Amino acid sequence: MELNKNIDQFDIPLAKRTYLNNPNSTFLKKLLIFSPLLFLIFAVAALRFIGNVELIPLNNLKFEVKRSHDARILGHLPYKETPKEKLVLIDSNIEVHIDMRDSLLKMQEEAKKDGIYLVFLSGYRSINLQNHIFYSLKSIRNQEAAERARVSAPPGYSEHSTGFAIDIGDATQRETDFETDFENTDAFKWLKKNAAKFHFKLSFNKDNKYIDYEPWHWRYEGSIEALKVFESANKNYKSN
Ligand SMILES: [Zn+2]
Repeated sequence: MELNKNIDQFDIPLAKRTYLNNPNSTFLKKLLIFSPLLFLIFAVAALRFIGNVELIPLNNLKFEVKRSHDARILGHLPYKETPKEKLVLIDSNIEVHIDMRDSLLKMQEEAKKDGIYLVFLSGYRSINLQNHIFYSLKSIRNQEAAERARVSAPPGYSEHSTGFAIDIGDATQRETDFETDFENTDAFKWLKKNAAKFHFKLSFNKDNKYIDYEPWHWRYEGSIEALKVFESANKNYKSN
């Protein structure tokens, strides 16, 4: 008796032994019977999902990732204002970052030797001035923000606030200042051929999706600071 009692203590309780015969367990039984079928349904669904993912071209996925990490507003990247002490006057009212002054003036000098007269139209612009340009002109010209952003950067998003951007014109054809027509001037043709030697690059070319082509707007990439400033513009956005 003592032995049986001990066995009973370790035995499975009666209710559990009859578990599968209990009417309450019908659902579980069904689940057991149909589990291979459920597994099959899940497996097919999973494979279809993987199949769909693979159907999306990989470069499209990369593009989406890049776009979502991009701080761009209406196609413009954010830029900090250069501290005043880094700015130098190169013309009566044009200031640029000290890093680019020599190169810019050298470029103007070399162009002159080829009979090309470059004129500087706009260099450094404070965020305040950009604020005025963007919102006032947008209002005066009855433009929506996106429309205005095609021709002018929102404040805090202009390459001009870095001091590393310069708008250039042809001194012999001032009517083309800030006009797409500037691309037909001798000055532009010369710049296209020679600007890279002086570390200048066209910022907004014809392929840019958001910003209109600006043949007059060049940025300087000839110092580490300048390269750092334009790193995301060069890395994330080929058409910039
Ligand atoms: Zn510009």
